[in-house]
Amino acid sequence: MEHASKPALLDAGSAGIAAAARLLQEGSLVAIPTETVYGLAARADRDESVAAIYRAKGRPSFNPLIVHVADPAAARELAVFDVRASLLADTFWPGALTMVLPLRNGAPIAAAVTAGLPTLAVRCPAHPVMQAVIAKAGIPLAAPSANRSGAVSPTEAGHVVQSLGANVDAVIDGGACAAGLESTIIALRSDGTWQLLRPGPIAKARIADVLGQPSVPVMSHEIEAPGQLASHYAPGKPVRLNVAQADEDEFHIGFGSVGGDATLSASGDLPEAAARLYALLHAGAAAPQPRIAVAPIPDEDVGAAINDRLRRAAA
Ligand code: AMP
Ligand code: MG
Repeated sequence: MEHASKPALLDAGSAGIAAAARLLQEGSLVAIPTETVYGLAARADRDESVAAIYRAKGRPSFNPLIVHVADPAAARELAVFDVRASLLADTFWPGALTMVLPLRNGAPIAAAVTAGLPTLAVRCPAHPVMQAVIAKAGIPLAAPSANRSGAVSPTEAGHVVQSLGANVDAVIDGGACAAGLESTIIALRSDGTWQLLRPGPIAKARIADVLGQPSVPVMSHEIEAPGQLASHYAPGKPVRLNVAQADEDEFHIGFGSVGGDATLSASGDLPEAAARLYALLHAGAAAPQPRIAVAPIPDEDVGAAINDRLRRAAA
């Protein structure tokens, strides 16, 4: 008999979750919905599986991956937690916060996951499907966004299939992602300071409140993970930002009072805009117009993360 065509589409119920867990244990790649975006997951303890992630995405291997675990206890087996890390885990996990912490000696993490860094990026996701798959598989999962490197991130199962096709073994269809933007990444430094490496759904100010101190800016000469710098989230055509009045050859993405061809949020709601951002960038990529224009987005709360992604999409 012929093999079923790839990727296999799995349902988000117990049968799909069990099938996904089995595939992951065998070393395969499975795209899984999370509350941020769809992740391209592989077991984090095996070199070949992690190498398959980089291959499927066409991702440069110096760009390290986030490891997803079931709970803080599982994270502590992989990374060294200090008081601050414990406090942040208590406050924001499960959820859209990734912490960069010292890698624990002897932790069962493939070297390719950290790209040789002495630190590990770790997160405990809130999405019930991702939670269930991690629990069932019983292994920490390395999972970057489930798209070709540099392209727009997926917030629906269809986006994953479009971007990765047969490069991924299976996709769990769990509907649209609630937050719609990648996790906030912070690094806790050994000198007691902390840095925001990537803005995301959890605003910097909320983290500063918990830690009782503001973040220290990242200087360009101390970039450890170059993935955050380059052009990224690129829809494959020119993107123009802060546009209230679009030109005729532009697919106009609106916000609030700026209507556009499609809107991120007619009521000007930032979380709604974040959840819809990538779907509209995908729509803009597929639209007949050769260019994309985006309405101004306020730079507050999750708006800062939306603008961060838009600047990279336009770069
Ligand atoms: P993605 O997997 O696409 O969500 O991107 C993960 C990002 O996390 C990378 O591009 C890095 O910028 C960041 N990252 C992962 N591990 C580390 C680490 N050990 N140190 C600093 N940044 C990291
Ligand atoms: Mg990504």
